[in-house]
Amino acid sequence: MSVTVDLSGKTALVMGVANARSLGWAIAEQLLAAGCQVGFSYQGERLKPELDKLLVGREGVWSQQADATVEEDLTSLFGRVKEEFGHLDYLVHSIAFAPRSAMEGRFVDTTPEDWNTALTVSAYTLVSTARHAEPLLRSGGSIISLTYHASQKVVPKYNVMGVAKAALEAATRYLAAELGGAGIRVNTVSAGPMRTIAARSIPGFGTMYEKAAASAPLGRNATPEEVGKLSLFLLSDLGSGVTGQTVYVDAGSSIMSMKLD
Ligand code: NAP
Repeated sequence: MSVTVDLSGKTALVMGVANARSLGWAIAEQLLAAGCQVGFSYQGERLKPELDKLLVGREGVWSQQADATVEEDLTSLFGRVKEEFGHLDYLVHSIAFAPRSAMEGRFVDTTPEDWNTALTVSAYTLVSTARHAEPLLRSGGSIISLTYHASQKVVPKYNVMGVAKAALEAATRYLAAELGGAGIRVNTVSAGPMRTIAARSIPGFGTMYEKAAASAPLGRNATPEEVGKLSLFLLSDLGSGVTGQTVYVDAGSSIMSMKLD
């Protein structure tokens, strides 16, 4: 049986596309294929040419610079959403950052500066973007973010980012509880390791990628396309009964404690 998702007449904002490998782009591709109108935000002008390349020739798309930690940028971005779309149906938060210094050393040595940076960029911005989106979101609207299993289990070198992802998952539940009355759902997609720019900054990522594939029940890692498909499910009416959840798309690797062969 095939399920066709028709999102014509729907609108989305995708935050955090650095290039074609970004998970935000894998999600945007599914939204665009379903006929959704999509606006994009990028952190700095440095990234604009990459995004422009992806958007060339596509209809109903626009982009604007916004550092998610800067309140004025968010005010301007959501002002643009209102101007372009009038309302918003879907918000995709695909943003994370931790200074490399916080991931190279021991977790016990995490500085307050690195802690604050990682948790502000990677978790608090879900709260602030949801606050800006709330007046524009209609009933049936949906918010997703991207998380990783290092929130639940220790993953070597993930350090403060594991704590930030735990905060993101908890924030998802609090937002879901508050926004549910207005018919707005909030979930987070827990993706297995994927080869993106953000992943490259994690020391030993290559080894982690190989080991996750080897121990996963499916014998491989999940793909960005599979992240996109789960996200489409959660954003659209297909996921209408799901809110406040951390939903895994990792070829099952998170269920394994060890593999003997
Ligand atoms: P990515 O392509 O590097 O995307 C991360 C995006 O976050 C970049 O566009 C980055 O912009 C943006 N960003 C960082 N700080 C920002 C800020 N202050 N304001 C606005 N944007 C900011 O890497 P990705 O792997 O697709 O990451 C997307 C999400 O997936 C993240 O939440 C990540 O933790 C999550 N995730 C990734 C994996 C994986 O293995 N790749 C697994 C599970 C979850 P700049 O390039 O300018 O910094």
